[in-house]
Amino acid sequence: MKSNRISEKDEFVLNLELKTISDIFEPIEIKKYVIVATIKVILQNALWHYPACTNCNTKAVPNNPSDEPNVTGSLKNVTYECRNPKCTKTETSTFPRFMIPVRVQDHIGSITLTMFEQDAKKLLKISAKDLVAKTAKLGFCTNVYPSDIKVLKDMKLAFIVSVSKYNVQRNNNQYTISRISDDEILIEELEKKFVVA
Ligand SMILES: [Zn+2]
Repeated sequence: MKSNRISEKDEFVLNLELKTISDIFEPIEIKKYVIVATIKVILQNALWHYPACTNCNTKAVPNNPSDEPNVTGSLKNVTYECRNPKCTKTETSTFPRFMIPVRVQDHIGSITLTMFEQDAKKLLKISAKDLVAKTAKLGFCTNVYPSDIKVLKDMKLAFIVSVSKYNVQRNNNQYTISRISDDEILIEELEKKFVVA
């Protein structure tokens, strides 16, 4: 897909600064950066999916959080509330979307990032909704990381990471991944820049 390739190149190579992990380790400025790194660990300290508001994709809050999830990843007999001030819904329905914490490493350091639906779906070739359904169908608990997610391990990728206001204000360096490229030519091109610099 040539058109996709050009826009990806623009975004990763021309529009944003390439950094090492140690350069961005401290959340100093609200900004997006490019890093090239390998996923070393899929952290399993948090759920791999969250209940997204069907209207705006923001994480919705269950009105009765003690209930068990059903096969579609939402909670049984529970209504959800969307607290996104920009969303037109307050009480909402949900569907699962990916939110996967990963530890990534480059030639200098390592950092924890959060991968969301769009990129995880691209790499895993399945949506969170379908993977939750598949996991439940196989009889596994949908809270436990399914083996499908393990293919992310050892993938070398180019990441656009987003240092948010939240990160800066709380001095928290678990950044959101706003885009991933697995294009080998692009990754190679980015890595060459480190050698030149
Ligand atoms: Zn919403």
